[in-house]
Amino acid sequence: MKYPVYERFYTWQGEGLHLGRAAYFVRLYGCPQACPWCDSAGTWHPAYRPAGVTVLDAGEIARTAAQDSPEGAIVVITGGEPILFDLEPLVNALHDLGRRVHLETSGIASLRGNLDWVTLSPKPFGQWPEPSVVARADEVKLIVHDPGDIAAGLATLDGLRSDAVVWLHPEWSRARERDAGVLNAITGAVKANPRLRAGYQMHKLYRAD
Ligand code: SF4
Repeated sequence: MKYPVYERFYTWQGEGLHLGRAAYFVRLYGCPQACPWCDSAGTWHPAYRPAGVTVLDAGEIARTAAQDSPEGAIVVITGGEPILFDLEPLVNALHDLGRRVHLETSGIASLRGNLDWVTLSPKPFGQWPEPSVVARADEVKLIVHDPGDIAAGLATLDGLRSDAVVWLHPEWSRARERDAGVLNAITGAVKANPRLRAGYQMHKLYRAD
C-alpha cells in the first residue's frame, strides 16, 4: 500500500489529551472537506498544490519515522483526511517498530487499522462523521469558528463513548483576534456541560504567523 505524503516532521503534540508529548507527524495529501478556514490547505486546495507529494509505501514511512525520532515518539497520522486511505498496512508497519499510532480525522469513511488513539474532528462543510468512527473516537475536537458550530458539532456525536473527551477549540483566526463571540460561547458551553472542555492549539503559539 502506498500513501501520498505531504510532509513529515518531528515535534510535539499541540492539542488534546496528549498535549506536549513528543510526536512524529505524517501528513497525508488529499481532503474533500474544503473547510474555508483550513490551516492545512496545502494538502488539498488546487491553489496550494505542492510541486511534489512523495508517494511512499508503509515500510518506508515507518522506517523514516523510526530514524527521525529514535527516542520512540508516538506517530500521529494526519492530513488532509487520512481516513480516505487503508491505514492498516501503515499502522502495522509502525507497530512492528514499536510505535504507538494516533490518528486525526474528520471521520468521513470507515476506519481501517488498529489505531492506538483516535482524535475525531467533525467538520461542518462537507460530510459528517461515520457512526463507526464516532463510536471509536477517544477524544473529539470541535473547531469553533462561529458560536453555532458548537451545537452543530455536538449533534454529530450520537454513540460517542462516555469516557471520550470533547474539546472546544476556537478556530485559529478567531483565537488570534480574541473574538469575544466565539470565546464567550466556548466558556458558556463548558460551564453548562461538564462533558466539554475548553481547548487550544498550543503549537500555534510557537509560530510567528
Ligand atoms: Fe482542512 Fe481538515 Fe477541513 Fe480537510 S478536514 S479541509 S484538512 S481543516
